[in-house]
Amino acid sequence: MKRTFLAAGRFLAVITCLLILGAVAPATAAKAPPEIGETEKKIGADAAAEAAKEYKLSDNANDLKRIREIGNKLAAVANKTEIKAVYGSSIITPFEYTFNIIEDKDVNAFCVPGGHIYVYRGLLDFVESDDELALVMAHEVTHASHHHMMYLLQRQAAFEKGEAIALLATIMSGAKSSDVYNIQRGIELIKIARLNGYGMQAERDSDAGAIHYALEAGYNPVGLLTFMERLARRPELVDLGIFRSHPIDAERVASAKALLTELNIPINRRATTKAIMAEVKVEKVDGADVPGVVLSDKLIYRPAATDSQTAQKLATDAAARINKALDAGLKMHELKTDENAGVVAARGTALINITEADAKLLSSTVPQATQAAATVIREVLLMQMVNTVH
Ligand SMILES: [Zn+2]
Repeated sequence: MKRTFLAAGRFLAVITCLLILGAVAPATAAKAPPEIGETEKKIGADAAAEAAKEYKLSDNANDLKRIREIGNKLAAVANKTEIKAVYGSSIITPFEYTFNIIEDKDVNAFCVPGGHIYVYRGLLDFVESDDELALVMAHEVTHASHHHMMYLLQRQAAFEKGEAIALLATIMSGAKSSDVYNIQRGIELIKIARLNGYGMQAERDSDAGAIHYALEAGYNPVGLLTFMERLARRPELVDLGIFRSHPIDAERVASAKALLTELNIPINRRATTKAIMAEVKVEKVDGADVPGVVLSDKLIYRPAATDSQTAQKLATDAAARINKALDAGLKMHELKTDENAGVVAARGTALINITEADAKLLSSTVPQATQAAATVIREVLLMQMVNTVH
């Protein structure tokens, strides 16, 4: 009994390593491993039972609701939509997907065969939108739906004269004592696979699957790009979960970007991140409520009411025009100013029109107020540009 437990625990380590490392053999035209289907579901269920013992699973109802709503949509798509596999097999084996949260600060996620997906607390804290979360989860769903682990074992079996299949047999039979040797061999095999650098093909296959599944499930696949780009800018996370286990290199980011372009998906990074937005904030000035447009925590425009429009309306309209321009991918050189006329314009449209009365409300002059507003917008554009460099 104790040995079985040990074996199962090691098995879990094997599975998690495999999928976390994305250690998968090259895209050869290998025939589907016979273990796809029932065997896969069985070992997945065993591993999931082990995960429940091994990890502190969250019971936070709100967070579970969030990931299960996203996960169930993705699972429904994965169970009926065949996405071409560049590694593994696209043969649909409907799984009863499960989604859980591990209470751990690592930015990580993994899956075990049969569609049991685990999302770490650190990942929930790191993502900036449901779209980003959905894409990371869809990446894991693809590792499961494309049977990556089973292919890895088959590949290793070919290399190692059946040792990996022996590992499977061991797990299925409940692991007799003599078979612990095989399990340890299994761990060795994974190391070999990892050192041989098989991981990136599996990662790219999961990225492509994620984009297709997420799109079909109603999420913005640009979330994959923004997630990878932001993670790549956090070198301190290199030693932690997802970066190490699903390594991100420039080529992988480029592949994801190329697929988005091929699918005609506009790459608006602001839509899937906590983008800087122009907002209208009301402040008390000399006892009166005065609305102003704030961008990046800086007041850039405080309109005075006119005969035809209230200050509130002028501010709301200006904020909307600025956000529309930013969302449309405004470039630095497209931002123009006419300081004497008090105009900040983008692509031929005035974003802000500062009058003498407006400038007075800011205790400034028209040229100064115009220049100051344009500077803040430029700073935001610069920041966005820097954030896409990796
Ligand atoms: Zn992966």
